[in-house]
Amino acid sequence: MEQNRRQRKSSHGKRRRARNRYGVKVAALFASAAVVGLAGVFAIAKIAQKSPAREEVQGGAHKLPEELTEVEKQETQGMEELQPETRSVLRQSTETGDASEPQSETGSGLQQSSEPGSQPQQPAETGTAALLQPEAGTVLDTSAMTDMEIARYFFSQELTDSVFARINGISYKENENIGREELCYLRVLHVDLDGQTRVGELIVNQRIAQDVLEILEELYANAYPIEKMVLIDAYGADDNASMADNNSSAFNYRVIAGTDKLSNHSLGLAIDINPKYNPYVRAGADGAVIIEPEGSEAYADREADFPYKIEEGDLCHRLFLEHGFTWGGSWKSSKDYQHFEKK
Ligand SMILES: [Zn+2]
Repeated sequence: MEQNRRQRKSSHGKRRRARNRYGVKVAALFASAAVVGLAGVFAIAKIAQKSPAREEVQGGAHKLPEELTEVEKQETQGMEELQPETRSVLRQSTETGDASEPQSETGSGLQQSSEPGSQPQQPAETGTAALLQPEAGTVLDTSAMTDMEIARYFFSQELTDSVFARINGISYKENENIGREELCYLRVLHVDLDGQTRVGELIVNQRIAQDVLEILEELYANAYPIEKMVLIDAYGADDNASMADNNSSAFNYRVIAGTDKLSNHSLGLAIDINPKYNPYVRAGADGAVIIEPEGSEAYADREADFPYKIEEGDLCHRLFLEHGFTWGGSWKSSKDYQHFEKK
C-alpha cells in the first residue's frame, strides 16, 4: 500500500506536469501574440522615424482603429485573431470528448505541427477524431502515407467517456489504488507477422504513456512484429483468453496469477507483448511447472526458434530497458517472458 500511495503521488505530479506542459503551450501562443504586438510597435516605431512629428506618431499606439495605418491595422488584426483561437484551444482541451487532446500534445511526430508561430488549427481536432475511427485490429493501408501521416496514428488521450464505458466494470473496477484520471488511452500502429500495418490500442498509466508511445513507434519503424493489440476488455478482461489469442495488452485491474497480490497491470505500469509466444512460466503449489497461457507450452523452451520470441538484447527488450522498464524474462523465481514493467 505504501508503494501504491507513492505511485499515486507521483502520478499526481505527472498530471501537474501535463498541465504545465499545456500552460507552456498557451504561454507560447501568448508569446506569439506578444511578438505580433511587438512587430506592430516596431512598425509604428519605423513609421515614427520617418515622420517629422515623431512624438505625435508614437502616441499613435493609443490611436483609435480608424486612425491606424494599413500596416498597423494588419498587425492588430493578427493579434485579435490569435486570442480567440487560444481561447478555443483551451476550451477544447478542457471539455472532455473523443478529441479532447490536441494531437500536438501527444509528443509524437505531431509536435511539428504545433511549433510556436504555426497556430494550432481546427483540423487537428477533427484529425484526432478521424484517427479514432478505424477500430483497433484493423489493417491499415499505409502505402501512400508519409512518415508524418503515420506519426499521427501514435497518440495518447485521457480516458474519454466512450473508452471508459468499454472498460468500466470489466478491466477497470472501482478501487482505491488507481483512478480513471491516472490512466491514458494510447492509439498506435504495429506490424503483424505478414508485414501488414494494424491499428493498436492500449491503456497504460499516464506515467509511462510517453515511454510506451516512443517504444511502439520505434518497434513499428523497424517492423518488429506484434500480432494483436486490443483492449483486454474484448476478452472480458480474461488474461488467459487474451494471452492465448496472442493479444498484447497493459492495464487490467487484477491480482498476479496464483497469488492475492495486486499485479502491476492493475496500475497500468506493466505491458505484455505477444504473450502466447512469450509465456508466463512458474512453479505451482505442488512444485509442478505451470505455463500460461494454455497452448504456449512449446514456447517455454527458449532455445527453440519461433516467431514473436522476445530475447535478451533484441530490439523489443532493448527499447523497454532503455526506457527504464524491467523484463519478466530476467526474474529469478519465475519467468514472464511477455512482461515489461516500470515502477
Ligand atoms: Zn504481464
